[in-house]
Amino acid sequence: MERKVILVVEDEVVIAMDLQATLIELGYEVPAIVTSGEAAIAAALDLGPDLVLMDICLSDGVDGIAAAAQITQALDIPVIYLTAYADDDTLARASLTTPFGYILKPFEARELRANIEIAFYKHRFEQTLKENRQWLLAVLNSISEGVAASDASGLIKFMNPVAEAMTGWAQAEAIGRSPAEVFQLVDEVTRTLIENPLLRSLREHNTVYLPDNVLLLTRAGYETPVADSAAPIYNNRGQTEGAVMVLRDSTNQRRMEAQLEHNALHDTLTQLPNRALFLDRLQQAVDRQARSPEFGFVVMLVDLDRFKVINDTLGHLVGDQLLVEVAPRLKASLRSVDTVARLGGDEFAILLDGVTDVTTACYSAERIINELKKPFAINGHDLFISASVGIVLSSIPYGGTVDLLRDADIAMYQAKRQGQGSYRVFNADMHHQAQVLMRREQALTQAIAHNQLRVHYQPIVWLDTQAVASLEALVRWQKPGEGLLSPDQFIPLAEDIGVITHIDQWVLRQACQQLQTWQQMGTGGWGMADGGIVRDAHSTEPSPTIAINVNLSSNHFAKNNLVKIFAGILQDTGLEGHYLKLEITESVFIENAKEAAAMLAELKRLNVQICLDDFGTGYSSLSYLHQFPIDMVKIDRSFIKGIATDTEKLEIVRAIINLCHTLGMAVTAEGIETPRQRDILLELGCEYGQGYLFAQPLDGATITQALQR
Ligand code: C2E
Ligand code: CA
Ligand code: CA
Repeated sequence: MERKVILVVEDEVVIAMDLQATLIELGYEVPAIVTSGEAAIAAALDLGPDLVLMDICLSDGVDGIAAAAQITQALDIPVIYLTAYADDDTLARASLTTPFGYILKPFEARELRANIEIAFYKHRFEQTLKENRQWLLAVLNSISEGVAASDASGLIKFMNPVAEAMTGWAQAEAIGRSPAEVFQLVDEVTRTLIENPLLRSLREHNTVYLPDNVLLLTRAGYETPVADSAAPIYNNRGQTEGAVMVLRDSTNQRRMEAQLEHNALHDTLTQLPNRALFLDRLQQAVDRQARSPEFGFVVMLVDLDRFKVINDTLGHLVGDQLLVEVAPRLKASLRSVDTVARLGGDEFAILLDGVTDVTTACYSAERIINELKKPFAINGHDLFISASVGIVLSSIPYGGTVDLLRDADIAMYQAKRQGQGSYRVFNADMHHQAQVLMRREQALTQAIAHNQLRVHYQPIVWLDTQAVASLEALVRWQKPGEGLLSPDQFIPLAEDIGVITHIDQWVLRQACQQLQTWQQMGTGGWGMADGGIVRDAHSTEPSPTIAINVNLSSNHFAKNNLVKIFAGILQDTGLEGHYLKLEITESVFIENAKEAAAMLAELKRLNVQICLDDFGTGYSSLSYLHQFPIDMVKIDRSFIKGIATDTEKLEIVRAIINLCHTLGMAVTAEGIETPRQRDILLELGCEYGQGYLFAQPLDGATITQALQR
């Protein structure tokens, strides 16, 4: 262990020498003996000893007590006084310098050693205490919370700088005051004073937390939202010594909470209330009506017409900007108490609180429609849109918010059907229609699972030989109680509710399987006789080359797993790709041109052929005929119908056939009902024909039987 260094201050040289010898013998180091107060101060500063042994009575100059005072002020070291006699005055004066001991002369080595060691121990102990205290203060000064402590009687004893800043009170001023005066806390809502947590924790002997929504009033009268707690402080005998309080400025937290709450309930694009908030307000209105039946309200759904077109042609940014600018126009058309919300996409919902008569509701709808008719100037474009509005009055006597929104939706769709820029008020009739529709939707959704779909096959023949070239698979719905429904009665609905893709896939699988079966039944081609299929005795074909045509809704092209699914079906059924012709309509190119082109190219890699159906009815833009990989074109039956009587139709058909041939595509004429129509088409060079003249769509079993004959 390092030896402790002791400075001896003693003006009697003999005693000093003796003392030095004793100390060295005891294991201390004594680098110097000094004889005057001044010398003592200089030597202490110079040597930095661990302890000073100080004679109180020094013969000249400063006495020991004064020298010790100066030394302890400069250096944090213990001093022990040596004295031969001690009058009360001297002792009193000495004790002011907080000495670590007195040794009366003469003394023994043992006594000396005990005193020195006790002084060292005491000094070390005090040092530790002091360090702890400093550490604690540093912590309290650096934390971001305000901390204040009181004594057991509830008077302030301590405040850290944050607490000072929060209250505007300096610690020095606050000490000894009541926390109720320095920390004035009020309830944000009731504005009543709240019992100070420090005092409450002292009273209750327990940790207490601030209630929500508490404001701290600063000395200057400002208000800060605060949170947190106070707790009693116990000494080691378990008695309450005081209390400590921690206060946190919750301004930021509140701001963040408010922002989060706002975000959860508002649409980020338009800043309007979102669906959640709208449903909440609607629920409140429903509840209020339940309590007071004379209260009423109106729900309106506003859907922008043509929004999708704008979005698709001018881009999402323009679309978004348009939605942003629609919001203030909606608001401007309504009272400030009404709620305008964006439910999603281009659909807005409105709640007119307290409106019970239909005239007011219609008037509001008209104002909205007129307001939205005015052009929007966005990105240098003058955009014209219109809106369809569905209105539902709360007087319709059924239930919840979901029903109301659904009814408004039904009315909105009716308005859309009526034409752009109109509104409809929901009525019970619509409800009935909607219910019928809903039941039908449900039934249709389950039609595949309940095995109610059928596939019929209509031959497509070579016009010259009338040999069967292909069979078009046409779906039917065997609906219990309603008989065999034709596709026109359910395909549009299936497209609306999105089950068409499942139906088409099911039909494709059936058709592929069926063709496989027929192919395995034998060789030779098929011919037509009396509206039925027969084995073609004259055929020179060694094996059947009959293909299958399957209709494909344009909805498929909005999904991207189409090709994978089709490849899977071909693989499962073992049908070779080149026997399959997929019939698509022009709408595919209009709705999803880019995706469609890519998917068609991929389909072609499966070796299937692409057939453009109903040609002439749609946009009939000839430009995409060569932009897309189309193998053949089917001329719509509306043209064939008039071909024998209407020269204009005839010329159109001629032009289409010529164009297709120029582009290397084969042509099928649909809906051939008379021999005359067939003959004209033959003359025009049309390759294939389909129609009641040759055969109706037949069910699979009928065809199988005919082939077995
Ligand atoms: P489409 O693709 O134009 O099918 C031809 C339709 O014309 C069939 O009606 C057929 O029965 C009818 N037809 C055939 N020859 C004649 C004729 O000489 N005169 C007249 N007036 N009509 C004739 P169907 O079976 O009622 O199908 C109607 C439409 O439903 C089809 O028109 C097609 O667009 C759609 N469709 C049928 N099956 C499916 C399917 O599985 N998936 C999809 N997506 N659509 C299908
Ligand atoms: Ca077709
Ligand atoms: Ca067709």
